[in-house]
Amino acid sequence: MDAHTLTHTYTDSVLRAGGVPILLAPVPDIDVGVLLDRIDGLVLSGGGDIEPERYGSKPLDSMYGMDFDRDEFEIELVRLAAKRRTPTLAICRGMQVVNVALGGTLIEDIPTEIGSMDHTVIGHHVFNGHQHVRLEADSRVAQVVGATDLEVNSIHHQAVRDLAPGFTAVGWADDGVIEAIQHEDPTWRLLAVQWHPEYLGQVDDKASRALFCALVDAAAG
Ligand code: MN
Repeated sequence: MDAHTLTHTYTDSVLRAGGVPILLAPVPDIDVGVLLDRIDGLVLSGGGDIEPERYGSKPLDSMYGMDFDRDEFEIELVRLAAKRRTPTLAICRGMQVVNVALGGTLIEDIPTEIGSMDHTVIGHHVFNGHQHVRLEADSRVAQVVGATDLEVNSIHHQAVRDLAPGFTAVGWADDGVIEAIQHEDPTWRLLAVQWHPEYLGQVDDKASRALFCALVDAAAG
């Protein structure tokens, strides 16, 4: 039977930051506003690939975990959250959903296109910072984490390619893969990262915890 699931690392991270986590199940477009009325901030979690047709691409063997209902729901959620400037922390697939929902595209498979397996490290390494990411010094994400260089985890085989209108890249891995993006309007308290702070926060990583604290602070404001 299908199930809506979320790893506890997300809810732990929100709780640790002083927030109250609520898990959202997909609802029809018409109800997304009702749902957003009842929350103060949004975490867009990691997960399977976005259906390639949604950003003008085609299915490939390397793609996995596509979920029509989840895409449909999260894309509408992002469009409305962007309109309302709902505080948002977008993680991994979540950052990709933000980009696709607002008009951007994705690299369909990093190992095929860039030849790097560095981004697809799983197992206990999800709790290790093993990938160097450089952040733009004046970006919101750099200000929140208080650093321009981070060692992050990396559990993705896709990445942002063309940015949606109004967005800039503000973080990169050493191979040039985009690891953080930012919206031009600073009143939208959006943080969007390709790595997984919800895992690193479990092992006391200060930068990761700061991202969730920034979301909860924005949501409380
Ligand atoms: Mn990565």
